[in-house]
Amino acid sequence: MERIYRYRMTTTSGGNLSVREPNGDVWITPARLDKGGLRREDIVCVQADGSIVGAHPPSSEFPFHQAVYERRRDIRAIVHAHPVALVAFSICGQAPDTQLLHQARHVCGEVGFAAYALPGSQALAESVAGAFATGGHCVIMESHGVVVGGETLQQAFQRFETLEFTAKTIIKARTLGKVNYLSREQTELPHRNFTPLPAFDHGEVESRERELRRQLCDFVRRGYQQRLLISTEGSFSARLDAESFLITPYRVDRNTVDLDDIVLVRSGQAERGKTPSRASRNHGAIYQRHPDIHAIVNAYTVNATAFSVAGVELDSRTIPESFVFLREITLIPFGIQFCDPADLAQRVSRRRPIALLENDGVLVCGSSVLDAFDRLEVLEATAEAVINARLLGSITLMSDHATAELRRVFDMPE
Ligand SMILES: [Zn+2]
Repeated sequence: MERIYRYRMTTTSGGNLSVREPNGDVWITPARLDKGGLRREDIVCVQADGSIVGAHPPSSEFPFHQAVYERRRDIRAIVHAHPVALVAFSICGQAPDTQLLHQARHVCGEVGFAAYALPGSQALAESVAGAFATGGHCVIMESHGVVVGGETLQQAFQRFETLEFTAKTIIKARTLGKVNYLSREQTELPHRNFTPLPAFDHGEVESRERELRRQLCDFVRRGYQQRLLISTEGSFSARLDAESFLITPYRVDRNTVDLDDIVLVRSGQAERGKTPSRASRNHGAIYQRHPDIHAIVNAYTVNATAFSVAGVELDSRTIPESFVFLREITLIPFGIQFCDPADLAQRVSRRRPIALLENDGVLVCGSSVLDAFDRLEVLEATAEAVINARLLGSITLMSDHATAELRRVFDMPE
């Protein structure tokens, strides 16, 4: 709850979480308590026989939590909140289409819709549980918010966060033009083509490698906290030497990633016992082709991803900072990142360090971990500024004279 509150996905009074134990007891957040300062002992247990153990009354929305658990034995944790983008869908009577991004489709599945009923009522419980009966994990509640279920609270949270990200991205993309969605076949593509890297035995970790691991962890967590990565997606790597690089693991929560979670990839093989990010082959191909690239990040940032799903080009000639950091931004058609690492690698360079991957976030290259991170922040800020500017009027791009001058003074590659 603290995490949901900190990232402004609930207000102090709204939202509630619960977990069901195998014996039928349900632990749930208390009614009307400040969500910013919940403590372990504030959580209430509603036992299978209906008796309540705890210092507070349970959340007033306990009835729909209970109804969902009764209907769905596979759901053992529930997140309910009123995050702004999903509320926007809720009050328009719509559910976000997760075919926007392959990972949204895989993490969230199809999204259901529950008709309005009075908060806390049995009618609402029936409406919400009814929408879960089809087997989905996410339900938009009409004129209210969202309910997300999972096998664990962590999984329910990840679905919730990914769904809110998807909703935000759709809203931003709508201001740019038509939003493109993937076909079923396209969302299956990354899974159909995936084969894991062979493994090798990693010896002792030398101090330089340890330092690079630390740096990557710091920036991954910072990226998560700055909302540049979401908990389930986003890969960050750094070159160790000509043959090897370090990369974030597959599906480990980006908010808590640790030194030993990071995976060493050497000559196309991964450190034994760990699963590297699925972007490993692409990062490897880029490092091989471009000796001057030392760090790469795949990220999902709302504003830059909005350009990628609207298929709209992002021009960096807005302000000197954007032009100097971002240079030429390439738009890469969907699918290349799953089928052809060599093709992807030849589309980026020091002159074109940024790629918007169609319906798949952004790819940023840098000369160091800090450089790549910095560039990612500038990219997201630039994308947001352009989206805002389009609502104000027509954008004046910097002149050829101004950009030539910047190229000269900042020694930018031609
Ligand atoms: Zn509510």
